[in-house]
Amino acid sequence: MISLRCRHCRLTVAEGNAIAYVCTECGGILDVDGYPLRDLSWSDVDDGEREQGIWRYARLLPVSNADSRATLHEGGTPLYPQRGHSFRFLKDETRNPTGSFKDRPVCVAVSKAHELGADTVITASSGNAAVSTAAYATVAGLKAVVLIPERTPQEKVCQMATYGARVVRVEGDYSESYALAMKVSLKAGWVNVTTTYLNPYATQGDKTIAYELHEQLSGRVPDWIAIPVGAGPLLAGIFEGYRELQLLGQVETCPRMVAVQSEGCAPIVRAYETGSDLVEAWDAPSGSASGILDPLRGYTQDGVRTLDIVRASGGGAVAVSDDQIMGAVSGLGAQGLFVEPAGAAAVAGVSKMQWAGLIGEHETVVMLVTGSGLKNLQPLIARTTEPPLVEEQHPDPVGAVLSAVEM
Ligand SMILES: *Cc1c(COP(=O)(O)O)cnc(C)c1O
Ligand SMILES: [Zn+2]
Repeated sequence: MISLRCRHCRLTVAEGNAIAYVCTECGGILDVDGYPLRDLSWSDVDDGEREQGIWRYARLLPVSNADSRATLHEGGTPLYPQRGHSFRFLKDETRNPTGSFKDRPVCVAVSKAHELGADTVITASSGNAAVSTAAYATVAGLKAVVLIPERTPQEKVCQMATYGARVVRVEGDYSESYALAMKVSLKAGWVNVTTTYLNPYATQGDKTIAYELHEQLSGRVPDWIAIPVGAGPLLAGIFEGYRELQLLGQVETCPRMVAVQSEGCAPIVRAYETGSDLVEAWDAPSGSASGILDPLRGYTQDGVRTLDIVRASGGGAVAVSDDQIMGAVSGLGAQGLFVEPAGAAAVAGVSKMQWAGLIGEHETVVMLVTGSGLKNLQPLIARTTEPPLVEEQHPDPVGAVLSAVEM
């Protein structure tokens, strides 16, 4: 039987019919606890014979009733070597059903809400989690209400509306949407599936990335895993997955976790660099990587949790500029991957750490590529030069093409 446990004061909250979001004693973050790890072997955990994607690992997911699963075949994403490097790998999360890794946590959170009998889910999201919520809610037959910052990319707004969500824009940055969604969910009695650490089930979906990496790397533990970070549940989930692999006797060590943020909003990196145990909210987020611009205003404890894992794992935290991110977008494009700016941040972060001598060329590094380029086109379009045009009346159209492409 799984239960919820406070990370801070260790109080255990039994699973009821309503979802608990924070510890009733101290307000701390709740974790899912109680999987029978000692009684399981890896062959019990991986049900790849019968299930696909994240549900191969259903024994370690918090949804016990298979009929409650809302699935679009999320997870099971490819791992490629990074071109030009022998020991670096790209985990291509753009290949998820709605185009970002958020399908993993949201699929689990919405399935759990469905299992608990919810009829409406609400989320606050910088875009991708709202898209996933819209998609999985409609699969589960639930209504979805999504609150997004006013400047959310239109591509994402269009996608969530097409899946049928009720979309409301909220003036201000992501933290304003977060606070309002919380109030609305309490007032209306809707299940809040926000993918910070608020919904305790969501992070469980992120764990499946660790299990997949374990199989894709044939049991070898990467030295480093680099991750674009907003609040950091993706980073926490992958680390938790490795901890479980350790308890299952599958691996001896855990990877060093690297949090990569945008210079335009880097509250966790700032605390890491100053050696602080506290994370302070960021004032005015800016930049192209909209998917990771989370100022953490009102829930800085989420940043502290991520920072603790980064430090405990012996990892690192690094901020990258928009130019460095766009350089990584081009590099990924050159190997056939079309990625949104936030989705390329880990690749930019690893380059920066290599220049700084923090990561060696012979160390094994996995970089999470988190979202498709189709989801946030504007920054990419702004950097695309208009292609030359061959006019209808051109006297030598063939010559015009050959000279334009200079090949
Ligand atoms: C949400 C998101 C992230 C950050 O994930 P967190 O778990 O919120 O830190 C990274 N990349 C993309 C594309 C995202 O949408
Ligand atoms: Zn507590």
